[in-house]
Amino acid sequence: MKVSFYTSQREFNEKKDEFNRAIQSVLEKGNFILGEQVAQLENDIQQYTQAKYAIGVASGTDALIIAADILGFKDGKEVITSPFTFLASASCITKHRGRPVFVDIDEETFAMDVNKIEEKVNQKTIGILPIHLFDQMADMDRIMDIAGNHQLKVLEDAAEAFGMRWKGNGRHYKHSGTIGDFGVFSFFPTKTLGGYGDGGMIITNNEELAQQAKYYRVHGASKKYHYEYVGYNSRLDTLQAAILLVKLKYIDDAIRKREEIAKQYIETLSDCKNIRFPKIKGEQKPVYYVFNLLAENRDELAEYLAKNEIGYSIYYPRPLHLQACFGDLGYKKGDFPIAERVSNKIIALPIYPEITTDEVEFICEKIKLFYKN
Ligand SMILES: *Cc1c(COP(=O)(O)O)cnc(C)c1O
Repeated sequence: MKVSFYTSQREFNEKKDEFNRAIQSVLEKGNFILGEQVAQLENDIQQYTQAKYAIGVASGTDALIIAADILGFKDGKEVITSPFTFLASASCITKHRGRPVFVDIDEETFAMDVNKIEEKVNQKTIGILPIHLFDQMADMDRIMDIAGNHQLKVLEDAAEAFGMRWKGNGRHYKHSGTIGDFGVFSFFPTKTLGGYGDGGMIITNNEELAQQAKYYRVHGASKKYHYEYVGYNSRLDTLQAAILLVKLKYIDDAIRKREEIAKQYIETLSDCKNIRFPKIKGEQKPVYYVFNLLAENRDELAEYLAKNEIGYSIYYPRPLHLQACFGDLGYKKGDFPIAERVSNKIIALPIYPEITTDEVEFICEKIKLFYKN
């Protein structure tokens, strides 16, 4: 049995007519740039997340770059974030000549260890950039407390976090991205809400920030050919919006299926002594965008899975403080031992709504065979 790490084909085949109709309608109208489907998707995502404003942009990376620019994460200012995340969480700061200041992660959640944030705050600190990574949100209660105490801006990297909700000590669940000043989503194809190409969205509850983000995506223009700022050319494609509108209709079902798959993995592998699962911490609703394990002999396990035609992925094999592109930040090996340790043990197994229980069973059997238990 061959199990791919990810495939878009099963979903497309299931809903072919709907996707084709959505694409066809854009081609017939020719409303390729900021067409009505973009406004519709923004509106539907506002409804879904309860964010007051949503602005579609060209990618999750662009969403981070634009939000960081507007919040002033630049020009020597420091932003506290995690070294264990996708590049864009930190490059959105260095792109503007700001400085990411890393803190180590929590070994059980892989999120930034909130107990280590405050000691990094100084005169130059302007913000905190938490990442809601893999399946759960960072501790937003603590992060917003620290931000409030020191008047810091908060940019939530919710690229992987569509559908995740945080309650913490609050009375209501709040959708990821709606707690800080800005939140960003990625619609990269593999993401929980993924398109058929690149796409992203910025959300906020602040009218002024929303206005600015709207200008920034069209070169900083308040109206055609009148520029308030030097902005970007970064729009969510109408074609992608049309596709995402189809996907959004089924998102709760897709999230539920991901949860069932995660449950099957956990139940089937729970007696395997050589692996550990991350722990969900804090009062929250996780979404299994990725299903991760910490595995002994990870590299040998990966090789074994490949030999058995089972897809896997490693997020992330090298923490950001050890990346060549961030060499001038002056970090070295050993600075963030937990992130380094986790990056040597972590491995992600296939999880998508269309994977079958037989396939998951097969993967688990192979893993048990590998460890002979
Ligand atoms: C996917 C991702 C991004 C970037 O999104 P793109 O749409 O691929 O540009 C940023 N941060 C995290 C944590 C991501 O997983």
